[in-house]
Amino acid sequence: MKRGLLWFRTDLRLADNLALHAALQDCEEIIPVYILDEQWLGTDRWGFPRTGPFRLQFQLESLQDLQTQLSAKQSDLIFRCGHPAAILPELAREYQCDRIYCSKEYTFEEIAVERALEEQVEVSYFHNSPMIHPDDLPFAIEKLPEVFTNFRKKVEKYSQIRSPLPAPEIISSPTLESADLPSVQDLGRVGVAPDPRGVLAFRGGATAGADRLRHYLWDTRQLSDYKETRNGLIGADYSSKFSAWLAQGCLSARTIYAEVERYEAEVEKNQSTYWMKFELLWRDFFKFTAMRYGKKIFLPGGIKDKTKNWNYRPETVQRWIDGATGDAFVDANMRELKETGFMSNRGRQNVASYLVHQLGQDWRVGAAWFESRLIDYDVTSNYGNWIYAAGVGNDPRDRVFNTQRQAERYDEHGDYRELWGEG
Ligand SMILES: Cc1cc2nc3c(=O)[nH]c(=O)nc-3n(C[C@H](O)[C@H](O)[C@H](O)COP(=O)(O)OP(=O)(O)OC[C@H]3O[C@@H](n4cnc5c(N)ncnc54)[C@H](O)[C@@H]3O)c2cc1C
Repeated sequence: MKRGLLWFRTDLRLADNLALHAALQDCEEIIPVYILDEQWLGTDRWGFPRTGPFRLQFQLESLQDLQTQLSAKQSDLIFRCGHPAAILPELAREYQCDRIYCSKEYTFEEIAVERALEEQVEVSYFHNSPMIHPDDLPFAIEKLPEVFTNFRKKVEKYSQIRSPLPAPEIISSPTLESADLPSVQDLGRVGVAPDPRGVLAFRGGATAGADRLRHYLWDTRQLSDYKETRNGLIGADYSSKFSAWLAQGCLSARTIYAEVERYEAEVEKNQSTYWMKFELLWRDFFKFTAMRYGKKIFLPGGIKDKTKNWNYRPETVQRWIDGATGDAFVDANMRELKETGFMSNRGRQNVASYLVHQLGQDWRVGAAWFESRLIDYDVTSNYGNWIYAAGVGNDPRDRVFNTQRQAERYDEHGDYRELWGEG
């Protein structure tokens, strides 16, 4: 009886899961496992919890949904909290698994876990997260174009996006220990009440992710106006809000792409439908940037090794975090992030620029606060965008946003500033 251990990471879904698909092809029985990695439950060097309350809640809901889906396929989910490199080999031995199947990650802390695991057990990796499979890039990763536009033009011309795989009918597993998934409180954290001003009542899991995709494309056809509305600030539908589900892998980027193509064939094809694919290419671009530049995306000088003198004044940073800088547009966005775990792309660009260029603070403390607070934190999108904002990333120019003018343009009547005003 050949058994494989399926280690779920940021791929909390059964459909279009390449690791699951390969495990089912190779093995008669599958042992599905999720480890809540202790290193993400700790505190970072700036004193922020690495996983703040919004994302933790979303993650636990996603696991609940995954467990329900596995049960419906006659399997289950083993859940543990601790260090994957210590727990997984033990489980592999206990359940007599020949190999671990999992998604590939692209950043150094995740890669360190992979290395430690490989020393003890056979591991096979699969690219579940990017839309474009790295093997389908028209250049070696060391030759990744530095500028997004050059990357985009090449992949649009030469790369195919693979079709998503359907969820398996059945997943055979032996009798597994029944997992009692913890609540936020069980993990010693305080839960957060939803803020009625928030853009969306986010709920974790592949089921809710599929619902959101259906809502945005098919039920409301918001996709048709995406390019015109995507710079909005208030409400559920100015942009897709797919990011939180993408970050945990509840939704696959390939699935979104395939649905957009179907929409283009069945409803309409316009600049907005193209723009959704365009934005998903940004997401890929930052993943490949991380693959190419390794640890540099986390360093003060970024991928350019630029020497800049970054300041760090805790009181200044705290005012930024609390939405108390005195710049009403920045403050409104920062309060939204603090109270809901979400902020629009327009807001993120402005507050990042403000922290770095107006307040002159180290971009890494801003990135760390986002890491802690964002419900949709994705390591490569976050750090890729932050180095870009700080002028140490892929953009040849320093991108300084005039937050007053941005407020006049994108919050013309002040509704957003009023919504998130000091009250
Ligand atoms: C400083 C800063 C930090 C950011 N941190 C994150 C992060 O941790 N996680 C994250 O998912 N996004 C991050 N973004 C990118 C972007 O702001 C969010 O993806 C977007 O606001 C999420 O809302 P949406 O799903 O409605 O986006 P939509 O506008 O509907 O876009 C659809 C999808 O395209 C992708 N996308 C769109 N814009 C970007 C972008 N600039 N970079 C990468 N992917 C993009 C996302 O996957 C998004 O879900 C950051 C941007 C900035 C400026």
